[in-house]
Amino acid sequence: MDSYAVGFSRPDRWTPGRPAENRSPWHAVEAHRPAGELDGEVELAACGAIVQVWGSQRWERVGARDSACPECRRITTRQLSRAS
Ligand SMILES: [Zn+2]
Repeated sequence: MDSYAVGFSRPDRWTPGRPAENRSPWHAVEAHRPAGELDGEVELAACGAIVQVWGSQRWERVGARDSACPECRRITTRQLSRAS
């Protein structure tokens, strides 16, 4: 089972004056339940951002893209490597 769901930082939550966040709107959310059940819910991302879960996305795929939050990528990479 996936340990991370994908969260999307919504445009109305973006902080003005911090354009860097607009280019990396995807975050990892620790999933206590299957991502499908979390779909649409507002959760706390691994990096501390408030995001809305996008249940149809998989963090293993999204996290490899440039549009993924660098902090979330760093956190999840560290945890995954520690578990293996
Ligand atoms: Zn993040």
